[in-house]
Amino acid sequence: PVADSHVSFYADDLTISFNQNPTQFTDPRTLMMKMTDHMLQANWNVKTGWSAPAIIPYAPLPLDPACSVLHYGTECFEGLKAWRNKKTGKVHIFRPDLNARRMNKSCDRIALPSFSDEEFVKLLLKFVQIEKRFLAWEGEVEMADEDDHDFLYLRPIMIGTTPQLGVATPSDAMFLIIASRIPAYNSKPLRLLASSPEQAVRAWPGGFGAAKVGGNYGPTMRPMSAAAKHGYDQILWLFDPERRLVTEAGAANFFVVWSTPAGKTEIVTAPLSNGTILDGVTRRSVLELARERLACESLEVIERDFGIDEVVKAHEEGRLIEAFACGTAFFVAPVAELGVDGRDIKVPLESNGKSKSYAQTIKKWLTEIFTGEVEHRWAAEI
Ligand code: PMP
Repeated sequence: PVADSHVSFYADDLTISFNQNPTQFTDPRTLMMKMTDHMLQANWNVKTGWSAPAIIPYAPLPLDPACSVLHYGTECFEGLKAWRNKKTGKVHIFRPDLNARRMNKSCDRIALPSFSDEEFVKLLLKFVQIEKRFLAWEGEVEMADEDDHDFLYLRPIMIGTTPQLGVATPSDAMFLIIASRIPAYNSKPLRLLASSPEQAVRAWPGGFGAAKVGGNYGPTMRPMSAAAKHGYDQILWLFDPERRLVTEAGAANFFVVWSTPAGKTEIVTAPLSNGTILDGVTRRSVLELARERLACESLEVIERDFGIDEVVKAHEEGRLIEAFACGTAFFVAPVAELGVDGRDIKVPLESNGKSKSYAQTIKKWLTEIFTGEVEHRWAAEI
């Protein structure tokens, strides 16, 4: 079939114009959090469809001050990591097809155009192919081994660019992929503060919590910095003043492990069905691996609504086994404390004398896949 520019951008149309002033890797530490040398861009117009994608030198964008995104938040984004296995030299990214699918859903929610998931993945891989020199130094500089687990963070974005102050679906959009090098997150146990759902909620049924749109993040920053002042790492967002449903932990999904009064072990996370939870790639992978490798007669993996009071009760009755947050940023991070109604609940950790925790076990499996240590269909190789 002939490529239709109204359906998608296409990787075969990609043009590349290299940065003539590439970053010199004299001291890798100075690169941390810096953007890489290039960005990928494709433009869309409702009449002409998608332009050919182009990898060009990273640069500020010329934007009309009246453009849609600056007024109405017509924007969505994605986040995923690339990592180089030093033994094989290969670079891997984890399940990029799921980010493609999620971005298409976010675009749909925020009135931005769609594209082919496959072409998105192909372009992402081509972009990483060019920027992967930021992940290893390929003989240019000997890297200290302590930097072994640094990542290239990939950030696809789409914005509505039509300059028009009337509230309307944008007729123009811009798709971008940018990247920056970030240090490995040391998954130290987290302290989470349960929000008070009378005062602030992150998402609500019928809202847009399931979409990765910028509007979900800006309004969480004030509550986040207030929580940080009290030493919490993230907010555990509750929903509904009555049921106090546990939803997500900041920009990560949340799991709790407890035993039931009948003695069964349950790994529980909130369901996607309310539209208040982001369909995390890590969440999905944790669920799939746990169902494949852990579930048995005495251990069940469950997606269902649960309230913070259930967690508190499990703690009081000595049934709380562990809790963890998971996402691209934190990977799989154990939760050590939950601030609820003015007191801190201590969540058991592996270091409290237990054998390996579920979080650690799952994290190890995911790491093996992510790093290409074991062959698995989830790791895309570059
Ligand atoms: N929830 C929210 C609100 C997030 O922003 C993220 C990060 N994308 C996640 C959960 C975790 O998703 P993922 O595992 O795909 O990074």
